[in-house]
Amino acid sequence: MELVRLIYVSSKTEAFDYREINNLLDTARENNEKRGITGTLCFSRKFFLQYLEGSRKSVGETFAKICADTRHNGIEIIDYQQIHKREFSHWTMGYIGDTDVNEEINLKYSGNIEFEPYKMSPESVLQWLLDMKFFVERGNPEHVDPLDLL
Ligand code: FAD
Repeated sequence: MELVRLIYVSSKTEAFDYREINNLLDTARENNEKRGITGTLCFSRKFFLQYLEGSRKSVGETFAKICADTRHNGIEIIDYQQIHKREFSHWTMGYIGDTDVNEEINLKYSGNIEFEPYKMSPESVLQWLLDMKFFVERGNPEHVDPLDLL
């Protein structure tokens, strides 16, 4: 099985209401578990940044569905490549929200303190995501996963 990762950025449309993030994560986690996909979704300001990893077939089919979703547009692939191991093996779809995104980590990987994923290089985006994973797992006291509130 070819293991691949795909990272893309997109912008929310008017069809997306933040309160729908629960539905979105719920569906993603359920589908991804069945397909052996792991990764993380970041939503901050008006941007989505998502990292998907799994078999080439599953990632491709899932990404095709995601591209057809009217809740976002402006989809740009930042990185797509074969990998030899997963980075998010225990997250069917981790969540990084506004309360997690922090200025220090933004500044480390970009020109300023704002979260501007369209302007980041593939390597910076990957390192940013790995730092954020570490930050959330270490227990950011302000981290809110919308599904925990249900
Ligand atoms: P369906 O039964 O078709 O839909 C499930 C629910 O999703 C519906 O009840 C509805 O509430 C909602 N929904 C679906 N499409 C829309 C729409 N266009 N507008 C409003 N609500 C809608 N899916 C994954 O499987 N894995 C992912 O990692 C993943 N990540 C996503 C990231 C982003 C930024 C976005 C916008 C969507 C993502 N999705 C993901 C959802 C994906 O686009 C499809 O909606 C989903 O895969 C359809 O799954 P389904 O056929 O099982 O469910």
